[in-house]
Amino acid sequence: MQIYNKTMKYTPIQNYINGQFVDATTDQTLEVISPVDGTFLSTVPLSTASDLDAAVKAAKAAFSGWSRTTIKERVQVFFRYKALLEKNIDELALLVQEENGKTYAEAVAEIEKGAELAEFACSLPQIVTGEILEVSRGVECRTEHVPLGVVASIVPFNFPSMVPNWTIPNAIALGNCMILKPSEKVPLSVGRLAELLQEAGLPAGVFNVVHGDKDVVEAICDHPGIEAVSFVGSTKIAKAVYKRATSNYKRCLALGGAKNHLIVLPDAIPGMTAQNITASMAGCAGQRCMAASAMVAVGPVDHIIEKLCEEAQKMIPGGSLGAVINRASKERIEQYITDAERQGAKVLVDGRNPTVAGKENGTYVGPTVIDYVTPDMAIAQEEIFGPVISIMRTNTVDEALAIENANPYGNAASVFTQNGGMARYVIDKASAGMVGVNVGVPVPREPFSFGGWNDSRFGVGDITGKSSIEFWTKLKKSTTKWNPEAGINWMS
Ligand code: NAD
Repeated sequence: MQIYNKTMKYTPIQNYINGQFVDATTDQTLEVISPVDGTFLSTVPLSTASDLDAAVKAAKAAFSGWSRTTIKERVQVFFRYKALLEKNIDELALLVQEENGKTYAEAVAEIEKGAELAEFACSLPQIVTGEILEVSRGVECRTEHVPLGVVASIVPFNFPSMVPNWTIPNAIALGNCMILKPSEKVPLSVGRLAELLQEAGLPAGVFNVVHGDKDVVEAICDHPGIEAVSFVGSTKIAKAVYKRATSNYKRCLALGGAKNHLIVLPDAIPGMTAQNITASMAGCAGQRCMAASAMVAVGPVDHIIEKLCEEAQKMIPGGSLGAVINRASKERIEQYITDAERQGAKVLVDGRNPTVAGKENGTYVGPTVIDYVTPDMAIAQEEIFGPVISIMRTNTVDEALAIENANPYGNAASVFTQNGGMARYVIDKASAGMVGVNVGVPVPREPFSFGGWNDSRFGVGDITGKSSIEFWTKLKKSTTKWNPEAGINWMS
């Protein structure tokens, strides 16, 4: 995979179909540029409907054999896959860092999380057992989780390795065959995951990768051979994918964007609160759907805001703070800051146009803390997806909750307080699928499932953990009678 030439670091990206890396049937490509320093990494093909069709055919052919193996056999692949993720963690993390721009430590954490997701899939035989009951004399009802067939997973740029691993282990261990469509901005990591799955013993055709953007996503939504589509990305595209896939009678779960509010009460522990908020808003350069984007300061919390500014200033662009994905993203984020300032907000820590020595072609935004933001400003309402926190001031926790509730998104919310009753009140009233108490990034870890509410999630259920079992399988209900003496009545 790592062949260098004068102009491009890696060879052109290929699709992965039926256990082979193959060229797409198109000359149309996009450049893949590293946000770290502007290195030209590769080109990614904009695959066509016929490329997708080849992948669906391979997956369909593999399904008859794969779905007939027992789940106990299937999870053996994921025991080995988990070990391979761990064995190759350094190389995998460097690839994530290079194509996405996050720090090496963040990239390592992303691979570790992938291993945890594989570990959960290994536990599936223990939790997918069906039910059986003698419903009348000699008559039994039984349920079984049956795989759907060929399924698709469409993923975003911000976790090139972890978000694919949200879906790959569970969907495949449950007996499905998969087509994965990576983000065209970060297409490299998934190729290595395909190689590791093969090394772990996954048969050809069970996992396939088709690169591209809008056209191939639409072809996935339309293809009659695909039973279910999972999507992770922005709300605008999540809505379009959900609408198109379900209008073609497919099962769809589409996770969208976010605007996460952290409510800070005066009794919060200042140091811990400031550290958690900084880590949440600036970790992965703010490009996480769980990132803190708005801090709602309730009453006298200036002492906490001061500490927050101190902590934020410790984040060094190009050092402890990674890059944002590209120049367009950097310009968009900085424009939000400038617009908020023009509208009267006060920039306490200004991350616009930082100098990053030796990485002048990288795309960096420094940590930014903006005070006196009002709920009507765009920076308070829209997803920023950069290392920026907007502070809104309120007098009561109910006013803070009203701001949180009014936002159309509903991924995460957190409260910082030492008052247990108040914490429970916020958990009850926040309009978000994942709520934290004194936690800046309240991601539920396996076996708990991941998923937001409102405009952050379209469809039913969550994408990981136990909840994903319902999405990746259908229930077979059988009623059997083995005793000829049993009478016939309305129940049997
Ligand atoms: P995106 O919506 O631009 O892209 C996501 C996927 O959709 C990519 O594979 C892309 O190729 C494809 N796509 C892009 N434009 C399309 C179009 N017009 N039609 C069909 N498909 C299209 O998202 P992104 O910029 O890659 O990722 C960032 C977004 O993802 C943020 O909004 C973030 O909050 C969200 N996200 C959400 C979660 C979650 O769990 N809710 C997790 C991670 C990221």
